[in-house]
Amino acid sequence: MEKRPKLCTCQTIESSSRAEGTTFFNRSNNMLGIQPTTNKLTMQETWDELVARLSYLFTNEFLSTSHPLIGHFRVAVQREGDFYGFVPVSVIAAYDVKLNNLCKFINQKAETNPPLSIALILKAARLSSSICTSEGKLWIWKQNPLSPEIIHSDLKESIQIKAMRIPCSMEKPVETLTLNVSSKEYYLDVIAQKLGVGDCSQVIISRTVSKASSEMRLYFSAPKDLYLTSDSSLEVLSNMKETVNSQSLFNARAHYFSGQNIYGDALLATVGYTWKSTDLFHEDVSLATYYRMLICRVPDGNYKLSREAIVAAELPTAFTTRSNWRGSFPRELLCMFCRQHRLSEPIFSTEKINPSEPPLEISKNCQKLKLSESTSETEHANRGTGDANDGELRGQGTFKYEVRILSKEQDVIIECSSEDSYRRHSDAYQSVALKVLTWLNKYFKELDMPIEKLSCFGVDYGIRVNPQILSGVFALCPFVHNVQQTSVFRKCSSLGASVSAGDSNPKESVVPLFNIEGPDTGMSPSSGSLTCISYSISLVRGMEYIGEPLESKDEFEFEIGAGAINQQLETCVTQMSLDQSARFTTELPSRDLILGASGESAEALSLQTLQGCFLEYSVKVLRVTEPLEDRMEQALFSPPLSKQRVEYAVRLINESHATTLVDFGCGSGSLLDSLLEHPTALEKIVGVDISWKSLCRAAKILHSKLSMDSDPKVQSKRISSAILYDGSITDFDARLFGFDIGTCLEVIEHMEEDQASLFGDVVLSSFCPQILIVSTPNYEYNPILQRGTSPNKEDDLEEKTQSLPFKFRNHDHKFEWTREQFNSWASNLASRYNYSVEFDGVGGSPGVEPGFASQIAVFRKNTIQADCLRDGKAAGHYEVLWEWTSNTSRSAL
Ligand code: SAH
Ligand code: MG
Repeated sequence: MEKRPKLCTCQTIESSSRAEGTTFFNRSNNMLGIQPTTNKLTMQETWDELVARLSYLFTNEFLSTSHPLIGHFRVAVQREGDFYGFVPVSVIAAYDVKLNNLCKFINQKAETNPPLSIALILKAARLSSSICTSEGKLWIWKQNPLSPEIIHSDLKESIQIKAMRIPCSMEKPVETLTLNVSSKEYYLDVIAQKLGVGDCSQVIISRTVSKASSEMRLYFSAPKDLYLTSDSSLEVLSNMKETVNSQSLFNARAHYFSGQNIYGDALLATVGYTWKSTDLFHEDVSLATYYRMLICRVPDGNYKLSREAIVAAELPTAFTTRSNWRGSFPRELLCMFCRQHRLSEPIFSTEKINPSEPPLEISKNCQKLKLSESTSETEHANRGTGDANDGELRGQGTFKYEVRILSKEQDVIIECSSEDSYRRHSDAYQSVALKVLTWLNKYFKELDMPIEKLSCFGVDYGIRVNPQILSGVFALCPFVHNVQQTSVFRKCSSLGASVSAGDSNPKESVVPLFNIEGPDTGMSPSSGSLTCISYSISLVRGMEYIGEPLESKDEFEFEIGAGAINQQLETCVTQMSLDQSARFTTELPSRDLILGASGESAEALSLQTLQGCFLEYSVKVLRVTEPLEDRMEQALFSPPLSKQRVEYAVRLINESHATTLVDFGCGSGSLLDSLLEHPTALEKIVGVDISWKSLCRAAKILHSKLSMDSDPKVQSKRISSAILYDGSITDFDARLFGFDIGTCLEVIEHMEEDQASLFGDVVLSSFCPQILIVSTPNYEYNPILQRGTSPNKEDDLEEKTQSLPFKFRNHDHKFEWTREQFNSWASNLASRYNYSVEFDGVGGSPGVEPGFASQIAVFRKNTIQADCLRDGKAAGHYEVLWEWTSNTSRSAL
């Protein structure tokens, strides 16, 4: 470890910092572990410190340390001739943290303006009695020559380092180049040659970009102002405009990565001496590395990278449960995003819901949180209040979190609170972090929106933004990310069998039917299930069908319905069953994503046009884990509760001798499918749902069963018509008026309560079925369900230690009613529309507490047909998604 010079250079300099209106100790200093002391330094003392530190660097004492500068000093003393012992100032400015902090204190702009640090250090060198400079040159050296023998020297081998050239002109693409450093050469000399400057002292070095631990830096040539006489150079540099567009030489891409002002073309390379070793450390920077750096700066990019699925993965839109989340967690992602855009760490705080608990403020430092998250005591260590007794596991009360994102200057940019309250701290802050990320993602797709629109755009999503500061912070993004290219997968076409809408209705959208291979095992992924697939994506050029592999994974697990993979892939997977495989093609995503994913072949790809190319996916379903609700229902009931519900409905349908049936909220058609397998009097069956994906699956199942007339499974030979409609059951559609029977199994709890009431009104007042069967979970039964299963260790632990309120069975449930709530809803409804209603259920026994697991209401229309107000004029609202009639089959697919 390096010995300290006589004075610690890192002290708070309160008096003078107040005078300058700046804070010397920003967070980054604290993160470096530099402890502020109470000592105060004046501006004069700071200059003295700077001079002292600089002189110290040229002492034999310093040369015996392992400072990253040592390698450069070794080069200096190995240099022959007039330049013996000369060190480029830029090297000292880039590698000595202490000097840097002092420069920043003298002039805060030094942080974003590397030439300014150089000018300050040159001035300090002139003030030092032991250090020499010469006017108009960017070298410094020691009056009394260094003793070369003190620096251990080793013979290097020649090396080759791949680097990138980032031209300042946005029209020119970035390109790779190779730095060939022979055993005798100084790597900075090679960089100087590539930049076209005379010698290595004219190369300016940025701070590290990308991760703090990396040695990736930008190299560019010194601006001419640095060669002015010292004081005028300082003046010019410190007044240099920081605005983006005023200077044509401004390198926007280099600035975007480093946060520093960089002019002219720049090289991006990972090379340098480190604390660990005086041997030269180097790594290749490839084109794919560059594009991955770009990707991780878009809000969902770190998620894609954390899943190592740049093309396939999407940031999920909902934080359902911790155990179903894969990849980095939302808060971590939000912290990374802020770090990458040089914003302050997001501040999470609980809102006071339960007044007996003080509001908590989680430490601003995510790093710290991440470490402690693996322990069961989770947040305690990080709470501002330090109240270690107030645990997640106590389970009293609920939490809402708010998150604030501040600029580096501590101006609030974004504020957002969670809509719902959560019983677990982590669920609450993960959800709110995800809400912000999701919004940022939307914003990044429309970065060019006018500033006036921004606050409305925030309000629309329940987020407060400061438009001026926000657009300032992301001002460069539209240029660097090339917003026009962000259109991700608009259309999707299928390679093989796609049933087209025919000529019946040209307006109907073309729904892909994927080329699915293998027998239907009947085990299909449904919303909320964890599904594991293998996939590979290739880039296909023109009609040649020569696929270049782009991205593939042997195992990729995700939650269906959470938006965790791109839409086409999810649509395909939800139509497949276990062990099936499928192929389909899509349009290209953005060029950035393709090049980021392509790895080794990025260079070759970047030289080619991607026009006329498309992506070919091949996917296989390896595992399907039922959603938690189903798992619970299956573990505790035999046959499974869902099957019991369907059987209950089938029995009632049979007894009723109904010939027409509509299944409201049919989902993927489990009831309709079963009806085909039972002999009933039904002639016409209809399903309605708002989920296009579920309807597609229902269509697939019904289609295959009905169109094979010889299918021995199809018992219900009388069926002459089957239709699936895409529409909301809260809207009336005259085509479904007066059916013999309506079913609505486990649907109402998926709607908001007011919508569920609306459905009740619409169905009994307008659709007017003779019989209506409605089922919904009985909330009072949840304790039994949730005690009886251990979906995963963590949730189990939680369940066992908690009393009411119990969780809903499914994250998509908007409510779960007690028997009393359900009875009052149904009874009111029945009396209003002249129906009678009886209550029943499945799972559990009648009259035994706490009632049935699924409660069922059976409504029957009273014979007096007075008040069913069929509105003859009301046109159909629903769109036919699929239709089958006994001798012809027509499909809108
Ligand atoms: N009845 C099916 C599906 C239950 S899941 C079964 O028992 O298996 C609930 C379904 O309700 C989902 O498919 C969802 O898309 C559908 N749904 C929710 N709100 C709806 C609405 N307003 N109109 C139509 N369907 C709706
Ligand atoms: Mg449900």
